[in-house]
Amino acid sequence: MATSSTPPPKFFLGIDLGGTKIEIIALDKLGHEHFRKRTATPTDTDQHIQYRQIIHTINELVGECEKALGQYYLPVGIGLPGAISLKTGLIKNANTTCLIGRDFKSDLHQQLKRPITLENDANCFALSEAKDGAGKGFNNVFAVILGTGVGGGVVINQQLLVGANAICGEWGHNPLPWQNEDDLPLQTCYCGKLGCIETFLSGPGMRNQNELQYGLTLNSRQVFEQIHSQPKARQAYEMYLERLAKSLASVINVLDPEVIVLGGGLSNIDNLYEEVPKRWGKYIFSDEVNTKLVKNTFGDSSGVRGAAYLTQNM
Ligand SMILES: [Zn+2]
Repeated sequence: MATSSTPPPKFFLGIDLGGTKIEIIALDKLGHEHFRKRTATPTDTDQHIQYRQIIHTINELVGECEKALGQYYLPVGIGLPGAISLKTGLIKNANTTCLIGRDFKSDLHQQLKRPITLENDANCFALSEAKDGAGKGFNNVFAVILGTGVGGGVVINQQLLVGANAICGEWGHNPLPWQNEDDLPLQTCYCGKLGCIETFLSGPGMRNQNELQYGLTLNSRQVFEQIHSQPKARQAYEMYLERLAKSLASVINVLDPEVIVLGGGLSNIDNLYEEVPKRWGKYIFSDEVNTKLVKNTFGDSSGVRGAAYLTQNM
């Protein structure tokens, strides 16, 4: 119980801005939650109106949160599925398309009148898991999203590595390494290149490969459920394991992380954590592999928690 002599706890406010929901959280420095609320992302068909509504919704959520905490003008960290151009400060590659080309940080700052940090949602996931999730206690953490897309983030000594081009951890748009004839024909990625890791390892990528190579109209979960009853599902799953193993091995050869944390829909297949490390050794430039492959701790909450931790140095 706080007394007049104890200073109030310092809160970190984070917002996860997704295509369907906007969520706010207030954490203290121990990672305990003090406030949390989720609301639907505005969906007006007029992009200008939708953009203004998103800013308004964030402002309302922050106001409500601060009222509950009894503290005001706290810095806010925001995670969003997109990137912030280092050159212009404008949003790019966002799937909430009304944000693209906007100076979202300045517009939010104008409304909220406090320091704002924006970061890609995969980086927020990485920061959250490295801070007090599955990567806690490790100095070199590579966190991976295997979901609708394949993203990632790197956290070194509890600090997010952003990089000179703000693309640190974007391994999904490297080509699948050690390709062979089983990987042909290569598929065109939305980024314009052929054979990106994402076209094999994302949820839609895996579904597409299952159909192309094995004639299976099954998603990743269904494939895994049928590996004991359907030889083709077994083959498709084996192929996925091998591709994931070699794709992660190519990251290990560069970054040499102590731990790789998986997130996104495919991270829920528990068998991956046992099978992938059995396969990655032959691709890794070392006779001994100490890197651990682990499941995330916070699931869908990692994004919003990581967004809050963005403000810890502000
Ligand atoms: Zn790509």
